[in-house]
Amino acid sequence: MGTTGTCESCGRDATDLVAVHRAYITPAAWDEPEVVDVQPGTEQWCFPCRTHYPHEPAGPA
Ligand SMILES: [Zn+2]
Repeated sequence: MGTTGTCESCGRDATDLVAVHRAYITPAAWDEPEVVDVQPGTEQWCFPCRTHYPHEPAGPA
């Protein structure tokens, strides 16, 4: 698994790209639960970005 191309998160050339949905996480506050806002579009992300940034795996297209 993984394809070669340019990571859409950091812009590096990578050989381990995987389709993901970017997610924006709003941390929980004392009176609010955590909010995870998963974006509908898919992006190709390299391994370091998948390690460092919140996302959800995209299913097979
Ligand atoms: Zn990246």
